[in-house]
Amino acid sequence: MTTPEPTGGPQNPKGSLFEGSGQVRALARRLDWSATPLGPVESWSPVLRTMVITCLSSAFAISIYWGPRRAAIYNDAFAALIGDKHPAALGRPASVAQPDIWERESADFDRVTDSGETVTGRDEQRILHRYGYPEECYFTFSHSPIVDVDGSTAGILTLWAETTAAVLYQRRMRVVRELAELSIADAGNTAETCRAALRVLATARETIPFAIVFLAEDGTARRVADYGLSPGASIPGLTDAGAATDAEPGPVAKVLATGQTVEITGLRDRFPHALLPGPLGPSEPDAGIALPLWVTGRTDPIGVLVLAVNPYRPLGPEYRSYARLICRQLGVALTDTLAIEVERLRVQVLADLDRAKMEFFQNVSHELRTPLTLLRAPLQDLLDRAGDRSTAERQDLRAAVRASERLHEMVDALLDFSGAEVGTLKPDRQPTDLAGLTADLASMFRSAAHHAGLAFLVDVPQTPVVARVDRAMWSTIVTNLLANAVKYTHRGRIETALRETGSTVTLTVTDTGTGIEPAHQARIFERFYRADDHSLGAGIGLAVVTDLVRAHQGDIALSSTPGAGSTFTVTVPIADEVAIDDTRSDRGASVTDAADSVSSGSGTESDRPTEGGTTNRPRILLVEDDTDLRDYLDRLLTRDGWDVLAVADAETALSLSDGQGAGGAGLVITDVMLPGRDGLSLVGVLRQNPATARLPVLVLTARHGAQATTEGLAAGADDYITKPFEPQELLARVRANYELAQSRESAVDQAVSRAGQFREAMDSNRVIGTAVGIMMTFHRLTATQAFELLVAASQHTNRKLRDLAADVVAGGRMPLRQTLIDELLRRVGSTGRPATPSPAG
Ligand code: ADP
Repeated sequence: MTTPEPTGGPQNPKGSLFEGSGQVRALARRLDWSATPLGPVESWSPVLRTMVITCLSSAFAISIYWGPRRAAIYNDAFAALIGDKHPAALGRPASVAQPDIWERESADFDRVTDSGETVTGRDEQRILHRYGYPEECYFTFSHSPIVDVDGSTAGILTLWAETTAAVLYQRRMRVVRELAELSIADAGNTAETCRAALRVLATARETIPFAIVFLAEDGTARRVADYGLSPGASIPGLTDAGAATDAEPGPVAKVLATGQTVEITGLRDRFPHALLPGPLGPSEPDAGIALPLWVTGRTDPIGVLVLAVNPYRPLGPEYRSYARLICRQLGVALTDTLAIEVERLRVQVLADLDRAKMEFFQNVSHELRTPLTLLRAPLQDLLDRAGDRSTAERQDLRAAVRASERLHEMVDALLDFSGAEVGTLKPDRQPTDLAGLTADLASMFRSAAHHAGLAFLVDVPQTPVVARVDRAMWSTIVTNLLANAVKYTHRGRIETALRETGSTVTLTVTDTGTGIEPAHQARIFERFYRADDHSLGAGIGLAVVTDLVRAHQGDIALSSTPGAGSTFTVTVPIADEVAIDDTRSDRGASVTDAADSVSSGSGTESDRPTEGGTTNRPRILLVEDDTDLRDYLDRLLTRDGWDVLAVADAETALSLSDGQGAGGAGLVITDVMLPGRDGLSLVGVLRQNPATARLPVLVLTARHGAQATTEGLAAGADDYITKPFEPQELLARVRANYELAQSRESAVDQAVSRAGQFREAMDSNRVIGTAVGIMMTFHRLTATQAFELLVAASQHTNRKLRDLAADVVAGGRMPLRQTLIDELLRRVGSTGRPATPSPAG
């Protein structure tokens, strides 16, 4: 049938209204328009005709909905958009011919008609049934009113652009990007990485409604993560790695065995409700792809990834390549995870090795100390008595002594180091006055520095600088830096300074020593690294210091000029809520705090000595000439509960000892080097005085004073401590020595009292024996009868056997009436009479 030529109104320039190419025009020409709500073409409004001409000639998708029933006219581009809805839709009301879009569009159309305004949408989702299945599509559109000649809105002109590809691409790329950004470092292992990847995929369930990951394990596959499955859902061979049917291996097993991708369809019918519908609509997924997961360096798949196909999209090349992309990303993430796993394992093995090494060091250094001490003392002894030996022999001995001293130092360093390593470096932070503590620690080096002819300066603020630090660790930091400064400086000075700079505290230890070559400067913080082979240590100290500083989130830096000296700078943060008591603004108070700090909190308020120091606590006599160190030790010990009597020299100490045994002290601590009489001589005098002979004495020796140590012990000291010392160690040794002395004293007391009892028993035996002898003679009794008589008399008179016997011995006879004696004699079975009648009758 041929459409009659329209008459009147605008004409197609080529002739009739539908003249021209294209299938819609061809169809329009054949269509019986009179059978449509639009009526015969001749009856069409000129406005409609104009719009139709424009629409049909446009390359963009345009549709016109005209009249109250909104009958559709559209062009070829629109026909392509609606798929199999064309040709039936042409000339038909949209509600009939395009029901899938009608529901969404009719409301918009009403708004256009009612308001006369244009309604637009961007990338709006529509589920279209244009190819025989519901399809997820996206459109950008504009619906605008068509005003008829009479001024009414007679139709709607809609322009369409399908943006499905762009929208899907963006969505897919977001997933791929997020997979690429997976934080592998956080994932501990491959299974966790798979789970993290699936969490990303699950954010795009409209694209991938379900997913499952399997990891290969001993030739089979273990499901490690999934989503989108109904609880308890089982699809043989797909939700597990088993067989699909008796005859056929399952897709997962197949993929693992062959490394080839397998596609599965028809799931919806075969396993209804096993798979949960995605967010796009009620359709359950019907198809899936199982892909092999590859990691670099392996020839077999490491696992299998099963991805659902979105039931609202076709399973085509586009989807397949997307699935491969996801799979590749997961493979990359798994490759990284494996690399990190291997690295982590390597680090773990290294750390274990390190720990074992440190434990070994610690054990070995402990074991080495004793034989070393035993070696050094006789060697030194030999050297001292080597006056008559040849120069060469003396030189050999000196070399041996020096070597043993060096060995001892290295063993000490090793012990310090392994101690720091073995205990995990968790600082026990306490608010601490670093100015006071640092000054106290520095004071321990003053005498060593002066001894070496070096100026020794300590420049710390007079007011407290309070920071949260581990006090023992801070002590190690300061003493190591100062020990190095003393070791490597031969002339000039050593300066210790502390400054508060905003939120940090800076400690500098500056020396005018040998300095360090630039090439070594970065490396001296490494373990066992020494700037040159002639260095005086084991290369451990600075490594320990660095570890301790880092444990405080601090930093250590070095600036050094070879030949001119070095400055080590330690910076630690003052941790936030450090409270400073306003009332404690002078040095005295802050030092008390610092001293408190090193006594490891053992002193509670009630432990503190009362004003004037009258306490019942054991007294310590402290003999130290260095004022700073004396004050420091005084505070340290006082805070630990001791009553300290501090003096500057041995003579004063001895003057206190007159009559009351070292000023009533229960323990003596003395420096070896003292002005006038030295500490060892003091020990000797104390030992000779019976009142102080058993008093525990600790001597303080310089670090290099090995000889003094042996001499000290030889002179009768109970223990020695080398300076600089760890405050806790000093306190522990003081307590141990005091307690040891206490138990020694009580053992001596017990021994004395036992000896007394024994003597008494011996005495008694002797007296009783004599009395028995007297009575044997006097009453003509056997020894047994005489003894029984004595016992009977003692019971009768209620007197002690020994006392009665003593009276018998003194009086030469039993001091009782004769009738009573006769009575008792009868009781013991004798009628004995006195050998010689008693004058008394
Ligand atoms: P060591 O026990 O060998 O002193 P350290 O770790 O404390 O170990 O120091 C490492 C090396 O750094 C030392 O061997 C020494 O060469 C160099 N060094 C450390 N402190 C100083 C310093 N104050 N002056 C010169 N050299 C130093």
